[in-house]
Amino acid sequence: MLPRRLNPNVLVSGTPGTGKSTTCELLQRRLKDATYYNISDFAREHNCYSGYDEGRKSHIVDEDLLLDELEPLLRKGGAIVDWHVNDVFPERLIDLVVVLRCDNSTLYDRLQMRKYHDAKIQENLDAEIMGVVMQDALDSYAQEIVVELRSDTADEMDENVDRIVAWTENWLKQHKD
Ligand code: ADP
Ligand code: MN
Repeated sequence: MLPRRLNPNVLVSGTPGTGKSTTCELLQRRLKDATYYNISDFAREHNCYSGYDEGRKSHIVDEDLLLDELEPLLRKGGAIVDWHVNDVFPERLIDLVVVLRCDNSTLYDRLQMRKYHDAKIQENLDAEIMGVVMQDALDSYAQEIVVELRSDTADEMDENVDRIVAWTENWLKQHKD
């Protein structure tokens, strides 16, 4: 049997604009043994693409290629994984799934600041209203490891980071031997 990982793998998910990357950057500073993987960057750096979507003006991530690259890193543990898609990572390699949620008018403002075009903004607002990312998380992982956190304000983000750090410390205590 493979040795158990010494640090937990935390997946931070949510509709684009809900605050994944900002939250993960704060987390990385607090969790000294963790490595942060922003999957958009990771897929680009490792060329895990299967094509280009002209309509969306974005590369299509090939999930098999992505997993080939990422799985050995996840097996080591201590990964903070930042992606809006959460149903591709094997359940046995994920210890906590955080789904960030955001109020729709706030999300609209954030996506507009990002200069997303209207159709892309609408697509993401619809996804957030319908809770698509949360539903995918519940379909893919045991309910006990999925937590939904509001990320409307800076205070909420700080609280979320504190909660994830506290959860990690607790995990370490429970997996000491
Ligand atoms: P994601 O990685 O999920 O697409 P980002 O972390 O890039 O989201 O956040 C998008 C924008 O919204 C950034 O300008 C960020 O500073 C802001 N933001 C995200 N979460 C919050 C929050 N909880 N409170 C205030 N601003 C936030
Ligand atoms: Mn991001």
